[in-house]
Amino acid sequence: MRYFIGNWKMFGVPKSINILNKINSYYSRDKNRNKYRVIITPPYTLIESYSKNFKNKRISIGSQNCYQKEKFSSNTAAISPYMLKNVGAKYTLVGHSDNRSEGDTDVMLKNKVKYALKNNLKVVFCIGENKKEKKNKRTLVVLKKQLTRVLERKFNKNNVIVAYEPIWSIGTGKIPTASELKKTTIYIKKILKSIFKHSSPAVLYGGSVDGDNVEIFKEIKEIDGFLIGGASKSHKKFIDIIKNYYR
Ligand code: PEP
Repeated sequence: MRYFIGNWKMFGVPKSINILNKINSYYSRDKNRNKYRVIITPPYTLIESYSKNFKNKRISIGSQNCYQKEKFSSNTAAISPYMLKNVGAKYTLVGHSDNRSEGDTDVMLKNKVKYALKNNLKVVFCIGENKKEKKNKRTLVVLKKQLTRVLERKFNKNNVIVAYEPIWSIGTGKIPTASELKKTTIYIKKILKSIFKHSSPAVLYGGSVDGDNVEIFKEIKEIDGFLIGGASKSHKKFIDIIKNYYR
């Protein structure tokens, strides 16, 4: 199974549902539709209404983050996995670099993953090295730490997806070389196999993916799909990625 996950970040108002309607109508008719899943993570404000709209449709709605407590608490503006599940979210991102840079620690991330899974949300756990770490050839060391400090064997690996997003690639138009990316993805799967007893959850790539460079990424069979930021805000750009992937 392949995944095309659109992360809208701070984008969208109720009428932006038009974008999803167009993506959904392509997805529902695509002859390849059973080979992949489409998930969109709009901002919190749209999760309930979009989930209702797409309840019996192919697209799934997810959240971009969740709080590290399970249900209710006195933390102002926090949204828990339980609250997300109750408004129809099926997935949540955890550990996006935007949130790590705003203070998410490994301990917080572990609780987010734990409580999201407990509430039957599938988790898209994001990892990735920054520019300096890449320059100092620390990528694999950093990725191993990010994975082993948060993921545990007891977590249900069928409900976990890992998204490898080099921070220097997010929103910059810069992408890793195919051989670099292949090597890194194989390494991530090796670490995941050691965490989860011999088999690995799906591993996605994220960072400036578009309809052109997907032609390069699709040759790397170890990559199980994509986390797409900028290009997911346009139905045309998002559909182009899927079209070119299966061309
Ligand atoms: C992201 O923010 O998760 C992302 C991958 O963004 P972009 O595709 O715009 O690089």
